[in-house]
Amino acid sequence: MSRPEPKPWIAAIHAYVPGKSKSASGKPLVKLSANENPLGASPAAFAALAETHNPADYPDPDARALREKIAEVHGLNPDRIVCGTGSGELLHCAVQALAGPGDEVLMSRYSFSLYPLLAQKIGATPVFAAPEGFGASVDNLLAAVTERTRVVLLDNPNNPVGTFLPPAEVARLHTGLPSDVLLVIDEAYAEYVDPAFQTQAFALAATHENVLVSRTFSKAYGLAAERVGWVTGSAHLIDLVNRMRGAFNVSVSGQKAALAALGDQDFVARSRNHNARERQRLAEAIAMLGNHGISASPSEANFLLVHFEGTVTAAAALEALSDAGYAVRHLPSQGLPNSLRITIGTAQATTDVIATLRKLCGVAA
Ligand SMILES: *Cc1c(COP(=O)(O)O)cnc(C)c1O
Repeated sequence: MSRPEPKPWIAAIHAYVPGKSKSASGKPLVKLSANENPLGASPAAFAALAETHNPADYPDPDARALREKIAEVHGLNPDRIVCGTGSGELLHCAVQALAGPGDEVLMSRYSFSLYPLLAQKIGATPVFAAPEGFGASVDNLLAAVTERTRVVLLDNPNNPVGTFLPPAEVARLHTGLPSDVLLVIDEAYAEYVDPAFQTQAFALAATHENVLVSRTFSKAYGLAAERVGWVTGSAHLIDLVNRMRGAFNVSVSGQKAALAALGDQDFVARSRNHNARERQRLAEAIAMLGNHGISASPSEANFLLVHFEGTVTAAAALEALSDAGYAVRHLPSQGLPNSLRITIGTAQATTDVIATLRKLCGVAA
């Protein structure tokens, strides 16, 4: 008997494996594995979520109030913004609108784990450019462009490495691309970047037909559960994404919470400052373990990618951190068997992670 069979490129997809939140013995762990905000969300967002609404009514399909507030906060044109069910939905839409079987979607070797899937789901081929250190290399990305390249995906800051390409490098990447290749600049962690770096991605998106910038409420705004993200780009790109997206793609509560959260930029600043302080503390402690083969990639995001190249292995550190009550992300499936991605958590979490790593190295606490 036959049964419905998927397209061959769908059959090749492996289901997403989320980070663990329980130890082997079933003990619940504090998650430092999903880059969630340890400060939660703005009290204004909590208040908005506590308001009741009639669940029988569909949400605003155009998220008009939310788009206008985003435009106000970022100095953008609200007509050049589309909101989505997380930024993930919109990345799917953009790639699907422009690529298909036989086409190539280009990314740096270590990028957001969703990116290869975006290509595979539509029968396109994910192409990985060699990194520099572990981060993206503009030269290697440009060298990997072929006649089949339709989209370049750049997460900046990068996940899982945390590295940040400065505006001049992003501009050089854009300038080197053919004008019919879409450059997606995924700024999921932009709010965590040192303000001294000031990204110029919005200006690129406002002035070119082949640049789309994505942002999310899932990270610094602490609204991952609500699933709200957005993109900005040329009228042409915005039209394409609007055709592809779900009609009522952002829930009533998601629109309300994101709108309220935008009004509390103090919370975003508090999140950035907390993150910068704890990231620095963790990075300095890890630098002291250099003679044990442990190091971290430079990060402008809310996590550190920690490398284990000495006698203490990533697997041993994963287990010791689990015993200490923390889940972190081991990414052998992404080609990083000797590294752990550790989300910056509370001050207590930083203290516990440092103590665990020092103990593993036999360094006095
Ligand atoms: C977390 C993350 C996102 C956000 O995804 P949402 O769908 O908005 O929750 C996007 N890009 C990268 C690189 C991320 O790490």
